[in-house]
Amino acid sequence: MARTPKSVVIIGGGISGLSTAFALLEQAAAVDVPVTCTILDAVPVWGGKIVTHRVGRLVMEAGPDSFLSQKPWAMELCRRLGMADQLIDTNPVEKKASVLWGGQLHELPEGLVTFTPTQLGSFFRGGLLSWVDLARMGCDVVIPPRRSTDDESLAAFFRRRFGRHACDRVMEPLMAGIYAGDAEQMSLRATFPRFYELEQAHGSIIRGMMAARRARGRQDSSRRPPHTMFVTLRNGLGDLVTALTSHIQKAGGILKPGVQVEALRVRSHQAGRWMYDVICTDGSALSAEALVLATPAYVSAELVRPLTPQAAGLMDMIPYASTATVSLVYPADAVGNRVQGFGFLVPRIEGRDLIAATWTSRKWPHRAPSEEVSVRCYLGGVGREKILQRDDEALAHCVREELASIVGLQATPHYVEVNRWHRAMPQYTIGHLDRLARLEAALSRFGGLAITGAGYRGVGIPDCIRDGTEAATRTLRYLQTAMA
Ligand SMILES: Cc1cc2nc3c(=O)[nH]c(=O)nc-3n(C[C@H](O)[C@H](O)[C@H](O)COP(=O)(O)OP(=O)(O)OC[C@H]3O[C@@H](n4cnc5c(N)ncnc54)[C@H](O)[C@@H]3O)c2cc1C
Repeated sequence: MARTPKSVVIIGGGISGLSTAFALLEQAAAVDVPVTCTILDAVPVWGGKIVTHRVGRLVMEAGPDSFLSQKPWAMELCRRLGMADQLIDTNPVEKKASVLWGGQLHELPEGLVTFTPTQLGSFFRGGLLSWVDLARMGCDVVIPPRRSTDDESLAAFFRRRFGRHACDRVMEPLMAGIYAGDAEQMSLRATFPRFYELEQAHGSIIRGMMAARRARGRQDSSRRPPHTMFVTLRNGLGDLVTALTSHIQKAGGILKPGVQVEALRVRSHQAGRWMYDVICTDGSALSAEALVLATPAYVSAELVRPLTPQAAGLMDMIPYASTATVSLVYPADAVGNRVQGFGFLVPRIEGRDLIAATWTSRKWPHRAPSEEVSVRCYLGGVGREKILQRDDEALAHCVREELASIVGLQATPHYVEVNRWHRAMPQYTIGHLDRLARLEAALSRFGGLAITGAGYRGVGIPDCIRDGTEAATRTLRYLQTAMA
C-alpha cells in the first residue's frame, strides 16, 4: 500500500531555505520516506540575498560575491550539484589588501583577512603597525587567559590580547567588512569561536596558532590547499541558486515564488503529532506536519509570536544592519595603475563614509572584460546607516569622492549600480549564543518546527548551507519518529 507523504513547508527561499529543501529531499529519498516539500518565498525570484546581474560581459554581484573555501559546506554543495568545474579561485597575483590609516593605504598582512590561525608570520609584516604595536601584539604569549566564562566583545578581546592599535587598525575594519557590525558590540564566541577556544586551550592566540601550524605541518607539509581562501562561481553565485531550484524541482519539491506567509497556526497536536496551518497574504493556506522557517529572524519572530511570545522576544533581540553596495565600472585606461591588489578596508576611526572597496575585476578577472575595471564599494553598517537616507545618485557621488580622495581615481565610470540591503546583516551581539540556546528551548516544545538562516549560527553562505542541511536532518528525524 502506498504510504501518504509527509508534508513539509519551508518558508524562505534564500540559500538557507533552498539548502534545507535540497537536503531534505535527498535525505528522505535515501531512507525511503515520502515527503511533499513546498518552498514559499515572498518575492518572485529565488536566492534571497544572492543576486547576480549580468550586464553585457560584466558579472555584477549585488549581494554576496564569493564564499570561504575553508568552510567546506558550500564547496560540497557545488560538487553535489555538478558545478565543481565552475568554481574559480581569486587572482593569484593580485592578492594584496590594504587598510586606510591616517589617510594613506597600508598593505594588510596576508592571511589576516580571515584570521587564518596558521598564518602567524603575517602578523609581523606590513607597515600598518609600529614596532611598539607589534611588540604589544607579541605580549599575547604572556597575557594570562581571561578567567570569566561570560561572553566578551570582539573589540574587548582583541584589545586585551593584541593592544588598541592592532584592534582599531586591523581587526575592527576586518570585522566591519565581514559583518557590517560594530566590534564593540559583537560577540567573540558567536563570530570567532576559534579565538576563544585558542585562548582557553593554549593560553595565547599566538601559541595556539603555532600549535595549529605545527599540527598541520605534521599532517602533510607538501600539500597546498586546493583552492584560494575565497572562491566563487564563474558566472556568478546566481548559478548556485538556479542549480539548486532545478535539482529541488527534479526531486519533486514544489516551488512557490511570490507567496508571502503572514501567519502560522497550530491546527492540532495530539500524541506528539503536530499539524500547522500556513496562512499566506494572497489568501491561500497550506497545512504542514513539519515547518522550517528560513526567513530573517525579525520575520520569523512575527510568525511564531502567537505560538510562543518567548521565542519571538528572543528573535527580536537579533539586530540587523542595513548596508548598500555601489558598483562602478571604468575604462581600464582611465584607471591606469592607481589601483593595487584586491581592495582596501576603512577603519571606523578614520571617520569616512566608505567601509571597504573591492577591485572586483582584479580579484575575479573574469568578471569584466580586460578593457574594463570594476570596483564594488560598501556603505552603511552599524552606527553608519544614516548615509542610506541619501538617494542612489548621492551614494554614487559619495563613493566617487571617496575613491578620488583615497586612490586618486577621478575618472567617470561608464556603469554604476547601487544595491540597498535593508536589515540584511544579522548582528551576533554579546550573549547571542545564550539567547540562541533559550530560543531553541522555547521552540523545542513545538514538534517539527525548525528555524534556520543567517540570523542564528553563521552569516556566511557556507554556514547557511550547513545550518539548512542540519535543519533538514532534524526535520526528517522528527518525521521518522514522531510521525511514524
Ligand atoms: C551585501 C551583502 C554581501 C554579502 N557578502 C557575502 C559574501 O561575500 N560571502 C558570504 O558567504 N556571505 C555574504 N553575505 C551574507 C550572506 O549572503 C547571507 O547571510 C545569506 O545569503 C543569507 O541567506 P538566508 O537564506 O539565511 O537569508 P535570505 O537570503 O535573506 O533569505 C530569506 C528569504 O526569506 C524570504 N522571506 C522573507 N519574509 C518572508 C515571508 N513572510 N514569507 C515568505 N518568504 C519570506 C525572503 O524573500 C528571502 O528570499 C553578504 C550579505 C550581504 C547583504
